[in-house]
Amino acid sequence: MKILKLEVGDIISMKKKHPCGASEFDILRVGSDIRIRCRGCGRDVTVPREKLERNIKSVSNGKEEV
Ligand SMILES: [Zn+2]
Repeated sequence: MKILKLEVGDIISMKKKHPCGASEFDILRVGSDIRIRCRGCGRDVTVPREKLERNIKSVSNGKEEV
């Protein structure tokens, strides 16, 4: 099982799409709750970290890090 390292500025792809049809979100704030903004409609949502992690398909941060 891969550990997700989430940082502000990362872009996450979700298994469950936003009602607007987009599945990519920008990370705005990281803590016990994570604040994300939909890249489709620009709305932001706060989701408990545990719930969000179960829903993430992939994370990209623009730089290739191992
Ligand atoms: Zn949306």
